[in-house]
Amino acid sequence: MTKKQTNEQSRLAVESSAVDGSLSDIPAGVFVHTVYQADVAISITDTHGDILYVNPAFTRVTGYPAAEAIGRNESMLSHKTTPPEVYQSLWRQISRGEAWCGRLINRRRDGSEYLAEVNISPVVNDRGEVRNYLGMHRDITAMHRLENQVKNQKALLESVVDAAPVVIALLDVDDRVVLDNHEYKKLQADLGMAEPATMLMTSIRASLEAEAVNGRRSSGYAFLGREVRLDPADGKPPRWFSCSGSCVREDDVAADAFFAGGGRDYLLLVAMEITSLRAQQEKVRVADLQAAMAEEDRASSLRESLSAATYRLEGPINMMASVVGMLSRRSGESDPMVLALSDAVSVGQQALTELRAMIPAETREPVGSINLNEILRDALDLATGRLLAAGITVTWKPQAMLPTLHAYPNKLRSLFKALLDNAIEAMSARGWRERELMVISRAKLGSIEVVIEDSGPGVPAESQLKVFEPFYTTKHRHLGTGLAAAQQVAADHGGTIEIDPRKGAGCLVRVVLPVKRRS
Ligand code: FAD
Repeated sequence: MTKKQTNEQSRLAVESSAVDGSLSDIPAGVFVHTVYQADVAISITDTHGDILYVNPAFTRVTGYPAAEAIGRNESMLSHKTTPPEVYQSLWRQISRGEAWCGRLINRRRDGSEYLAEVNISPVVNDRGEVRNYLGMHRDITAMHRLENQVKNQKALLESVVDAAPVVIALLDVDDRVVLDNHEYKKLQADLGMAEPATMLMTSIRASLEAEAVNGRRSSGYAFLGREVRLDPADGKPPRWFSCSGSCVREDDVAADAFFAGGGRDYLLLVAMEITSLRAQQEKVRVADLQAAMAEEDRASSLRESLSAATYRLEGPINMMASVVGMLSRRSGESDPMVLALSDAVSVGQQALTELRAMIPAETREPVGSINLNEILRDALDLATGRLLAAGITVTWKPQAMLPTLHAYPNKLRSLFKALLDNAIEAMSARGWRERELMVISRAKLGSIEVVIEDSGPGVPAESQLKVFEPFYTTKHRHLGTGLAAAQQVAADHGGTIEIDPRKGAGCLVRVVLPVKRRS
């Protein structure tokens, strides 16, 4: 430290101590040493910015020794690439007696540049006049580079995420979307729903059941390749997504979390649309289903015919057996008539046994977790050929997400197929022009309601209860077991099926199936 410097420092420190009475007890030397040893570049200037004092940290940052800096203007640090307006605003502010803080591009003594974070505070005398300026600055080049790297990486990540051909959404613990990509926004617009992610998660949770509900918040929780079906409300074909989720933890950046730590959990949901792949698989599945249902129809009609045949044969054979008993008591067992009749009875009984053995066994299907929209879609797909042939316009209005039903899928398929068959048959009457079919599904008070409404001739009021009786039919060439069997299936599921009596023209059948039932 030169003698000139020390004197100047002492004068400044003593003056500031005198301005603020509370500091008057601190020896002037303390200020001098504090400024001298501070690890931030400090300079003190006159009101023109001409340097009066610099500390060693100033020399370390700028490369200018004190002897070279003192007497020169602070503009020696200017790299001349900082826009002039910045300096103008700097000077306007400090001339008004206000502190200024900002970033300037500086040049070191060796010509190299650095980014400086500069604080300039006016030093006023006891009359409030600005006498000096106190400048403090730090080289923040490295920090700025880091900041920019983070910014660039963020921008890069965002553009990659946006350009990704998959739906990406970051969800908080309440399933609120905090970040999404272009594909997600497109899906929102396509489906016309606020948050498709909520729908996807509802469905994924249903499939993961308790495991998902509990596991959602544990770290490392993930699900992979969960297939989810979304049914657009406008009746367009369903869309399929293969969804994966991984847990993302964000460290808390709040100051009070510096030592305590903490953070927030997010779920990164990635959904890849697999609708076209599923459409192919669906075609194959519906064809298989068609074959299986045709086979089941065949087996069931064989079962019915054989049961009826055995039932009808049992009567005469039993009667013959009693006649043989009576004759043998009257004429003896060796009577040729008794022997012949007895042979005929045993042959008949043998035939009955063989006939009974030929009755196909009923297939017992297990209860499964099902999406009723899929079952309804299957029933519609199975009926497509007949609907087209009859020129029937179908309006399909599924509720986008239905609660999972624990049910017998094949039985329900048969139920809805029977209802659709009835509707098609009713509208196919010769000369009948109104040919419109509406199928609606919706969740309602712990149940799922399905409405099948046709524009056919309808069921007369007096027959609306009778149609559910076995063998009752309003048509001639018809067995009349369809609605009775459908009602039995609804009852097997704890549900109901009714024909809406308020419906004017056409027929409206309402099926209500409770959701919570597990068997
Ligand atoms: P200049 O001709 O010096 O001035 C640019 C603009 O500032 C002009 O529009 C002019 O009107 C205005 N101006 C200049 N001097 C005054 C004045 N005395 N009163 C009112 N307006 C004025 N600059 C840096 O680049 N890096 C630094 O680290 C830095 N630290 C500083 C620390 C202190 C304590 C002070 C007081 C100033 C500091 N400056 C710093 C500003 C510096 O004095 C120059 O104003 C700046 O470097 C621009 O220099 P220039 O030669 O390009 O233009």
